[in-house]
Amino acid sequence: MDEQARPLLGVDYPGNFQEFEAWFATEVDCRNYLARLRWPSGFCCPQCGSRDAPWLTGRSGLRCKGCRSDISLTGGTLFEGTRKPLQDWYRAMWFVTSQKHGASALGLQRVLGLGSYQTAWAWLHKMRRAMVLPDRDRLTGTVEVDETFIGAPEEDVHGRETEKKAIVVVAAEQRGKAIGRIRLQRIEDASAERLRAFIQKSVSEGSLLITDGWSGYTGLENLGYGHAIRTLQRSGLPAHELLPRVHRIASLLKRWFLGTLQGGVQHRHLDYYLDEFTFRFNRRSSRSRGLLFYRLMQQAANCGQTPYRALVGGK
Ligand SMILES: [Zn+2]
Repeated sequence: MDEQARPLLGVDYPGNFQEFEAWFATEVDCRNYLARLRWPSGFCCPQCGSRDAPWLTGRSGLRCKGCRSDISLTGGTLFEGTRKPLQDWYRAMWFVTSQKHGASALGLQRVLGLGSYQTAWAWLHKMRRAMVLPDRDRLTGTVEVDETFIGAPEEDVHGRETEKKAIVVVAAEQRGKAIGRIRLQRIEDASAERLRAFIQKSVSEGSLLITDGWSGYTGLENLGYGHAIRTLQRSGLPAHELLPRVHRIASLLKRWFLGTLQGGVQHRHLDYYLDEFTFRFNRRSSRSRGLLFYRLMQQAANCGQTPYRALVGGK
């Protein structure tokens, strides 16, 4: 799948919690690991291109031997500006990736002994944001597309919670009888404009799209896609077999919301949860938890930071 440059257990990442503890026994271990992920083929100064190993300065600083500029090891990573040890962050990432169905902020707070729930929550959201990064490759081949409704408590103007459904559009690759990769996105409405924008972002031209007969899906041929429409009347199939992969994803997603998150997802944060679900689903063949941790670390090393303000406001 998207296992670019297949990493090796025991060489690139630890295999279990005991090994994890040994790999990251000190803050220096953590820094070296981050440096390796940022510069996989050796250090290269962003200012002058020098490849000499830099001096270490202070807690997370590097100084180039070529141009003597100061480079932050964590700058441009998920950890930029953090005042917590990298060890804590790595433990959090191990915890999140080793939970089969994802982690809650409360669980993370307990495991790490974090003082505030808000910190745990912000960390989780930063990690979720990092999760979606590699999924820029668009889906290809035969792809089912349909919308589903996610019920989530939404606060209205008076702070009262009302049941208003969010619309999530799902795209799922056909891989034989199975599901390949997926993409998910919350959309404001199921208009042709929104659906087309999602499809163009998520699926390569030349792919064959399979949808129901909704008018929002008309005209896809003009955008360079093949398009097959399945309708109940024409096929005689029950509704859930019309687009079976999308249907399966939708029910897994709903089960995940009910289980891990106790259904408590506000609409404005839904995007982050969809990112996490997609990350896990598209790497479900990464049976080793260590590999999933490694994938998340790779993204964390290259994703830039998100101020807490931006997290609270949604995307
Ligand atoms: Zn330099």
